[in-house]
Amino acid sequence: MPSISAIQWKRRGTQLIFLWFLGEFSYYGMFRCPFAVPYVSCANCPVVQCPGRKLWLSFWLLLLCSTILFGRAFCGYACPGGMISQVLGKAALVRGRMKGLVDRLLGIGKYVAALACLYVLFPMHNPRWAIPIRTGEFFQSTTLTFEHANSFWLVRTWFVVGALALGIMIPHFWCRYLCPTGGILDVLKRFSLLRYFKTEACTDCNECRSICEIETRPEEANCTNCAACHEICPVSAIEFGWKKRKIPKKEKEVKVAAGGRSGYA
Ligand code: SF4
Ligand code: SF4
Ligand code: SF4
Repeated sequence: MPSISAIQWKRRGTQLIFLWFLGEFSYYGMFRCPFAVPYVSCANCPVVQCPGRKLWLSFWLLLLCSTILFGRAFCGYACPGGMISQVLGKAALVRGRMKGLVDRLLGIGKYVAALACLYVLFPMHNPRWAIPIRTGEFFQSTTLTFEHANSFWLVRTWFVVGALALGIMIPHFWCRYLCPTGGILDVLKRFSLLRYFKTEACTDCNECRSICEIETRPEEANCTNCAACHEICPVSAIEFGWKKRKIPKKEKEVKVAAGGRSGYA
């Protein structure tokens, strides 16, 4: 069993800290939020016990800053849902099978989910699909929310719970294929300032994919910059930082013909 590097211990530490700050908000969003899309209409929410009423704005601002700086790092270092996926993924029964076309087709799911959420959020003004249980004992309020929710809310909630639970079969099933936030972050991370990336020394050996808990490679779909693969590359082709512009093929051929060096500009 490979030893756990210092950065992975730090990552576990940040996950626990964020679980402390965001865990209850996450729970309320999933199981007590009356809105079709949770976590975003908190300013107008009558569920007075939800910590999201105070947290939501700073949460989204923090997420925006973190995405500009570190791409999808929120998923790997802070999200309580990601942490649950990670724990379930340790016991995953089917590892390394989701690849090629199946992986790519399923991967579209998170972008479709993101578009569906944006549609419900803007043209539909994020309707309420459950009766808000404003106060009350923690678990009893959850039960009451389930009892007084409409069918859309129940389908949505059980769909998310089911997809998260599928993580015990296929690692990070929800995060890789269906999470709308993950879909949006995966698009935005293309513009992030810092990231793990593969250099031209990469030989496509896939060692990094074999150790990655989400079964991806640096920079590719779903990579969270978690750093777990950094030391594993046999040709040291994984680097962290500002990725420089890749020389277009034609320009490179001209340079090589002229005796110039190939590589990153
Ligand atoms: S994909 Fe979604 S649930 Fe998974 S870690 Fe990212 S934001 Fe959290
Ligand atoms: S381990 Fe290194 S060489 Fe192998 S695929 Fe990953 S980045 Fe490329
Ligand atoms: S590819 Fe590497 S850095 Fe990216 S999520 Fe996988 S292990 Fe982490």
